[in-house]
Amino acid sequence: MFGTCLNIAHIQPSSQIYGPGDRFVIWLQGCTLACKGCWNTAMWPHKANQLIEREELIKEIIAERDIAGITLLGGEPLQQTNNLYWLLESLSESSLDVMLYTGYELTELASMPVAQQVLAHVDILVAGRYREELRNPSLLWRGSTNQKIHFLSPKYDRTIIKECNQVEIHIDEFGGLVELGYPEEC
Ligand code: SF4
Repeated sequence: MFGTCLNIAHIQPSSQIYGPGDRFVIWLQGCTLACKGCWNTAMWPHKANQLIEREELIKEIIAERDIAGITLLGGEPLQQTNNLYWLLESLSESSLDVMLYTGYELTELASMPVAQQVLAHVDILVAGRYREELRNPSLLWRGSTNQKIHFLSPKYDRTIIKECNQVEIHIDEFGGLVELGYPEEC
């Protein structure tokens, strides 16, 4: 849709609440799944937001020291599959692991060949629509109880899941506050 650029909503170069360890977190812009109660509605439109050339994004990720991996969420990462696949394929020789959030269910992903190519490079997948009526604020890494964590590679397993809510507050270079996570009230 935007050539070799990824359409990005937000980047947090260092965060500890979206997967194991310290991570480079990328929110992709654009999602058509329209879950009721989604708190990222500003990330729904597929209109250009921050267009970042994929080569440039790789450089930014690699330049970040001491991260365990990257996390992709949104928006819907699997609605930008071509550039996403390129990104993960390019990182596959690095030591970084990959965690990916998707609103698609595993059964839907099974019939999406490009998504399957992307998932071949993913270590941890959080899958399923956010369902407001199943919201549970004491879950690790997800918002509603139907959303499942799948360990797609041997790098991690279920023993790392210690259910709890995590919220992170960052102060940006202009003194502004950025609150991340799944707050008790929203
Ligand atoms: S998949 Fe995620 S971003 Fe998309 S509508 Fe559902 S909760 Fe919101």
